[in-house]
Amino acid sequence: MENCDFFQDFKANIISQYNDCDAYKLLCSSQNYDPNKELKVEDDMEKVPFITTTLFKKSANMYTKLLRTEPKNLDKWTVSSSTSGDPSIVGRSKQDLLQIKKFVEREGQTLDSTSQYNCVFYPEPEVMRKHKSIQILDKPTESYIGNILDTFSFSENTNFLLHPYKGEFSIDMEDFLEFLKEHDKKNQHISLRGSTLLLYNAVENLKDKMKPFQLGDRCTIHTGGGGWDGKKGSVNLGIKIERSKFVEEVSTFLGVPEENFIDTYSFTENTFPITGHYSKKYKSYLFHIPSWGRVILRDIKTLKPVHKEGQRGLIQMLNAYGTSSFAGASIMVDDIGEIVSEDRCPECGFNGMTIRIIGRVKGSEAKGCGATLNIKEVENV
Ligand SMILES: [Zn+2]
Repeated sequence: MENCDFFQDFKANIISQYNDCDAYKLLCSSQNYDPNKELKVEDDMEKVPFITTTLFKKSANMYTKLLRTEPKNLDKWTVSSSTSGDPSIVGRSKQDLLQIKKFVEREGQTLDSTSQYNCVFYPEPEVMRKHKSIQILDKPTESYIGNILDTFSFSENTNFLLHPYKGEFSIDMEDFLEFLKEHDKKNQHISLRGSTLLLYNAVENLKDKMKPFQLGDRCTIHTGGGGWDGKKGSVNLGIKIERSKFVEEVSTFLGVPEENFIDTYSFTENTFPITGHYSKKYKSYLFHIPSWGRVILRDIKTLKPVHKEGQRGLIQMLNAYGTSSFAGASIMVDDIGEIVSEDRCPECGFNGMTIRIIGRVKGSEAKGCGATLNIKEVENV
């Protein structure tokens, strides 16, 4: 992965997936596609058939068919947090999980992972991982977010604010308030991380009752796990959170500069997370696509790739690494992204594709073997 040749590695991965997974081979055959013959140059990656995330849903009952190995070789089933009770179920080996950790480590600087004090709007990684775990074919299910938390090296001084309560979690607001008081006006190297919804709720809850804090410009506010549509797991706010409103309000109340806000985007069926820094100009997070992954945005009606700045499309992620146990090399999700630039971040100069995340397509459903998506309504943000 270091100094990777993404195209060659992706090609090898997709050919292995084609050979290992009959369901994917069937999908390719239905499109008269053979990766052995058709992947000659980089641009050919746009033609690689994708599997939609809806096929990994429990209700689709396909997750065992989307494996590239026998279930006995899996370490666990990673499951998404689901508002509807229909989570995605993705079988992963130890090796594939380790790859996610390597990605997160490579983003250490962007993620400001060396901060001395962490306050986290999630439970402790192990508690999160094992929440509502069941056995499927003799392997445990575990929360995907819990596994992502596990890849992160939190400092010893980390407050995990969520604790098990009546089968769900409750947030320790006293602990949060204490953390804020303890670090107020000290300009220490600290970070607040975790669920967008819970952090937003906590700040909304406190801001009318007390004066703002001043955590300073060495503090990072790192959200992840989505939730901008107001829903995540068992939490449902009933409203969407505008990214600019979130950043402005949290920045004002906690006394942290807006440029210190970052957001991580990924989903259970994908391997490489992407991270965005907040841009005042775009009133959104600008996500950099790292050299070890590719993103293709596809027009929501035609599913053709879009390339121009400002064009929007469904997000397809290409993985060359970390999908040895499941058919995750080419995945389409029902989220919409917008091209900010194909080659350079206009704000920080990062060399590479830069996108914003717009929101989720509503009413999407996979047809047949996931070759197409039926889009009924698009959310405008
Ligand atoms: Zn940038």
